[in-house]
Amino acid sequence: MINLPLNVDYTGKVVVITGAGGLICGAMARAFAQSGAKVAALDLNLDAVKRLSQELCDEGFVCKGYEANVLDPQALEDVHKQIINDLGKCDILVNGAGGNNPRATTDNEYQHEAIEGKKSFFDLDPSGVDFVFKLNFQGTLLPTQTFAKDMVEKQKGCILNISSMNAYTPLTKIPAYSAAKAGISNFTQWLATHFAGTGIRCNAIAPGFLVSAQNRSLLFNEDGTPTARSAKILKGTPMDRYVDAGELLGATLFLCDDRSASAITGVVLPIDCGFSAYSGV
Ligand code: NAD
Repeated sequence: MINLPLNVDYTGKVVVITGAGGLICGAMARAFAQSGAKVAALDLNLDAVKRLSQELCDEGFVCKGYEANVLDPQALEDVHKQIINDLGKCDILVNGAGGNNPRATTDNEYQHEAIEGKKSFFDLDPSGVDFVFKLNFQGTLLPTQTFAKDMVEKQKGCILNISSMNAYTPLTKIPAYSAAKAGISNFTQWLATHFAGTGIRCNAIAPGFLVSAQNRSLLFNEDGTPTARSAKILKGTPMDRYVDAGELLGATLFLCDDRSASAITGVVLPIDCGFSAYSGV
């Protein structure tokens, strides 16, 4: 059980979450389930969502794990049918699957610092760039095509996308991921407008830097002090700290709730300890 930051009743709502095997969306799945929702947890990694759903069901909540590739429309349609059968039609969709790829990342921050043998901007692998754009953009568009049909039918529903603070101003080294997330912010506004007459709202959150198992060693030395990159990140963060995954849950539960956020559509909410607001001076 987690201590929910917001008391919102999602009883009876079917919430479909992609990327639910991961850090952020696993926490969101738990928050929705604890708030009464029937959660469909989708991920490429079936073991991860099975573990999550087992844990939540053991605690008396409703959650079912499904294997689904957000880039495969047929697989999504198949899972859609199973979800309707198991839990009902989708009320809320969280497009959480996404991420970066090392093939679309440069080793140097600036061209004038490029070093022979290290990956510069000119060495970026076009297929890696494609991978990142596809995963983040199509990986949001395709599940929306699949699951928003239920919402159009109900004339009610909510979509929550996950952008990033790098959508406002790109981060060094990760041009494709930054641009793809800028695409997500833009697409959120497009969807909000497109579906406005159907009762569907669409918003996004833009998380700042989180510490995860994968990046902990890049951010902290063994003695717990910040690495050089980490010190630079914290210097650019007015609140001088990282965001905890749990701190995304209040906004998630708020934005998806029809009573609390009935007139809110097309917003991208930064949750970044002030990172995107700060010019560095
Ligand atoms: P994560 O790597 O912990 O989780 C991502 C999950 O998506 C994984 O379980 C993975 O198996 C799944 N996935 C990957 N490709 C998939 C596919 N094709 N189909 C279905 N599932 C797939 O990442 P996270 O940190 O929890 O990130 C979740 C979202 O938040 C992503 O969109 C990410 O870009 C965004 N985000 C993360 C941070 C951060 O600092 N962690 C910051 C801003 C935005």
